[in-house]
Amino acid sequence: MFTLTPLGYDYTALEPHLDAATMEIHHDKHHQTYCDNFNKVMGIYPTLTQKPAEEILRELNDLAVSDEDRKKIRNMGGGYVNHNFFWEEINPANQKNEKLTAEISETFGSVEKFKELFTATAVGHFGSGWAWLVRDENNTLKIYSLPNQDSPLTMGHTPLLTLDVWEHAYYLKYQNRRAEFVKAWWNVIKLV
Ligand code: MN
Repeated sequence: MFTLTPLGYDYTALEPHLDAATMEIHHDKHHQTYCDNFNKVMGIYPTLTQKPAEEILRELNDLAVSDEDRKKIRNMGGGYVNHNFFWEEINPANQKNEKLTAEISETFGSVEKFKELFTATAVGHFGSGWAWLVRDENNTLKIYSLPNQDSPLTMGHTPLLTLDVWEHAYYLKYQNRRAEFVKAWWNVIKLV
């Protein structure tokens, strides 16, 4: 079955940008709940649990499951995988990815332009969801947002960077000020 990966760094490691209380509740409670509910639905399909969670999302539309369970896998499996990716991309031990940074500059004009576009997408997303930088099926970098816990993997895209804009990601420290949270989050991104 699927397990919650330990954060790998202290809840306080990203202070003051991402506060310890939010990190702890977000990882230990919200992410744990996605993990538990993902396991609950996957328990009905033991042969499918042999695959990595990412692969399950890639094959989501072709899985031999009921429509109701497909929706649960989309929401709970998406929540499980998206958060795994999120904790890793903000790991304080990360190093700048020079190759990706160069590709971003080439695609969007500059890293600053890219940050502006990504920020506008994250701040402008209506309701719960995630902003994404992905590599699409034509090997092109794209920025978009997806609702709820939908994964770019299901669209055949490879996630490169993401930001959780569900209120649970920022409400404790930033209340309704999503733009302030997005600005703070850039401070903990070392990849670009
Ligand atoms: Mn979240």
